[in-house]
Amino acid sequence: MAGEPQSDCLFCKILAGSIPATVVRETERTLAFRDINPQAPTHILVIPHAHYPNAAELAAAEPAVAAELLTEAAAVATGEGLADYRLIFNTGAGAGQTVFHAHVHLLGGAPLREGLV
Ligand code: 5GP
Ligand code: ZN
Repeated sequence: MAGEPQSDCLFCKILAGSIPATVVRETERTLAFRDINPQAPTHILVIPHAHYPNAAELAAAEPAVAAELLTEAAAVATGEGLADYRLIFNTGAGAGQTVFHAHVHLLGGAPLREGLV
């Protein structure tokens, strides 16, 4: 069923607690944890509890949860003392997506390079 945990999904395993993660914040519908391979001084992933392969599919199925990824990312940024930060949704392998459970990257803590690619 759409949104159900997938046994072969890394982020579903983190949600289930079978793979450890450094959790920053959790709500009934979302989890924020530190990226294992940070690309900036602060690099946090915000994911929905529900499994969808990417942000667009999450937004189509559960728009309120998709919106909550943004409000949670903002709350995490505030908690980290970040006024300036970047949010990235990689969608598809060709765009660098490696984990096919919707997530937003929150990057900050240092001046970020201008430009998108
Ligand atoms: P993507 O490339 O799919 O947009 O992002 C996946 C992110 O998950 C990468 O930035 C990667 O470093 C992170 N990641 C992969 N495996 C783990 C893990 O086991 N724990 C944590 N905390 N992050 C992970
Ligand atoms: Zn998953």
